[in-house]
Amino acid sequence: MNTGPIAIAIDGPSGAGKSSLARRCAAAFGFLYVDTGAIYRTVGLAAYRKGIDRKDSEAIEKMLPTIRIRLKYNDAGEQRMFLDGEDVSDEIRKPEISICASDVSALPVVRSYLMQMQRTLAEENNVIMDGRDIGTVVLPNADLKIFLTASAEARARRRMLELQEKGMPCVYEDVLKDIRYRDEQDSCRDAAPLRRADDAVLVDTTELNFDESFAALSQLIIERFCLQPFPEGETKEA
Ligand code: C5P
Repeated sequence: MNTGPIAIAIDGPSGAGKSSLARRCAAAFGFLYVDTGAIYRTVGLAAYRKGIDRKDSEAIEKMLPTIRIRLKYNDAGEQRMFLDGEDVSDEIRKPEISICASDVSALPVVRSYLMQMQRTLAEENNVIMDGRDIGTVVLPNADLKIFLTASAEARARRRMLELQEKGMPCVYEDVLKDIRYRDEQDSCRDAAPLRRADDAVLVDTTELNFDESFAALSQLIIERFCLQPFPEGETKEA
């Protein structure tokens, strides 16, 4: 029997709602939420700032030991990303950095460099970790694996609203194009491609709103671990 911390892996394509749902579930059940995409985005931002070709594995490999990436939680339990001491949590959300993240994440050298950081977090905490290869590569023994997906159009619409709410104006067609670019690259790369683990539960949120998606994930957590969520309004960030 596994007596260590509990690990929940949530994988799926860009814009399926992984981050917001994982964050809400983590708060509701008292887990630490780990957004691994933010870590890849920070590497992508570093390459972008330094003007390094993001597909040049050797150049990126040389860059990695020269940058300092830190993941910290603020008092509200929110994950913040630091690059060489600077809080870059907002900057990494820019659409051009999403593409940089997808590019660098295709390099095996980047994936192995970030692997230990992710595993250590899961060894020390009850985590809900989201990404592309959490259930297949990073935490293959996770206690619950969820593959969260939705149609590309539904994901593009949600991502557009999210960017607009953050004051980043965008055009639907551009967002859909980015989503398709990343879907193709994330699924077709040789290194840890996005795929559903054989033992992952598939949740398709195309026809579900946020609350319905949250209810679906909560039900899986309740059933698997016999846990009950904190009552609404008393949610605790881990
Ligand atoms: O999840 P998010 O969209 O923030 O991730 C940004 C990019 O980082 C993704 O498009 C994907 O290419 C990459 N990524 C990855 N493996 C992860 C998390 C993210 O390859 N575990």
